[in-house]
Amino acid sequence: MKEQKLGTKCVQAGYTPGNGEPRQVPIIQSTTFKYDTSEDMGKLFDLEASGYFYTRLQNPTNDHVASKIAALEGGTAAMLTSSGQAANFFALFNICEAGSHIVASSSIYGGTFNLIAVTMAKMGIESTFVSPDCTDEELEAAFKDNTRAVFGETIANPALTVFDIERFAEAAHAHGVPLIVDNTFPTPVNCRPIEWGADIVTHSTTKYMDGHGVAVGGAIVDSGKFDWMAHAEKFPGLTTPDESYHGIVYAEKFGQGGAFITKATSQLMRDFGCIQSPQNAFYLNLGLESLHVRMPRHVENGQAVAEFLQKHPKVTAVHYPGLKSDPYYKRAQKYMGNGGCGVVSFELAGGRKAAEAFMKKLKLAAIETHVADARTCCLNPATSTHRQMTDEQLAAAGIPAGLVRMSCGLEDKEDLIADLAQALE
Ligand SMILES: *Cc1c(COP(=O)(O)O)cnc(C)c1O
Repeated sequence: MKEQKLGTKCVQAGYTPGNGEPRQVPIIQSTTFKYDTSEDMGKLFDLEASGYFYTRLQNPTNDHVASKIAALEGGTAAMLTSSGQAANFFALFNICEAGSHIVASSSIYGGTFNLIAVTMAKMGIESTFVSPDCTDEELEAAFKDNTRAVFGETIANPALTVFDIERFAEAAHAHGVPLIVDNTFPTPVNCRPIEWGADIVTHSTTKYMDGHGVAVGGAIVDSGKFDWMAHAEKFPGLTTPDESYHGIVYAEKFGQGGAFITKATSQLMRDFGCIQSPQNAFYLNLGLESLHVRMPRHVENGQAVAEFLQKHPKVTAVHYPGLKSDPYYKRAQKYMGNGGCGVVSFELAGGRKAAEAFMKKLKLAAIETHVADARTCCLNPATSTHRQMTDEQLAAAGIPAGLVRMSCGLEDKEDLIADLAQALE
């Protein structure tokens, strides 16, 4: 059969029941699995046979859902994690250790910025942040001999900048290291970073993939395209024997397509244990089944809301890569021809006070620390997530006090606009 289209994969990939088996992905709510002999189980521990023994390492429900996400991104292997934070940590820590260095886009999710700049620094992993719009010289200067990965977000949360995947992939590869892209906001429905040269793709599945605000989760997908052996001295964890796992050399035993995820599972998941519960993987799969139907509606609503706000006299600026006037419009067209996501941010003339008063008046859009949900929600960073900062500090961080981040849900756009109109009045 020829390669299936994306919508078909959203609905069907990852799980094909046999004769008389459950049609829906079964929730295997079991911590452990039973074997007839110790030899049978021993083969699993030696990674000589594939199978299940303990859910911290692998669970069939999670594996079905992970392989659906691998199919959607066009990767060779994938794993689920307990959260997006865990996914980004594992993706980086799988190839970095004390003494390594990361080049990262400065325009990324705040949690990921903290992870790299503060927590991983405590582990002895250095980082250099570069603007997603930096010059070639600035990008080149960011690399060091100990650089082991480049990291960016397709559409950054909350700045809504668009990452030039192809350019950063070329720079990473010129230095013999992989590009890791967090593709949470566009999802594979709107952008597949692997097609543009990304080597590893991560997700906070908490957002659009789940799409209903039900379960926190994450995923890592390997493109299978990065040749670890060609840069063996940089990635000893993949190319030399793992003494904590019977001396296995992951890149030899599992090849280019399987080494990264197998190592992350058998080492990092074993030691850190950030598993997604099978119940949450089941919820995630329900979200994935309609992802290709939902994303165009999020984009349609985001675009309509952005265009409405742009014309409104009380709104001083609108940030949305789907607007022709947006500095990222061209790049968004290149990477996401069908649109990016439903998140729009905008600034109100009256600053913090105006934002607070406006949000109080909204009837449909709820105030939440969340995005990418079926229900429209909004947030004013100055009075919530960033409330400890003064207006001056906020301006320095590129977050005006009057900025509102709005995540357009799946409602009818006429109702969303009417809600905004009455609140702005
Ligand atoms: C939310 C988010 C994360 C963190 O994911 P959690 O599931 O909340 O841990 C990482 N990256 C991006 C782009 C996000 O939006």
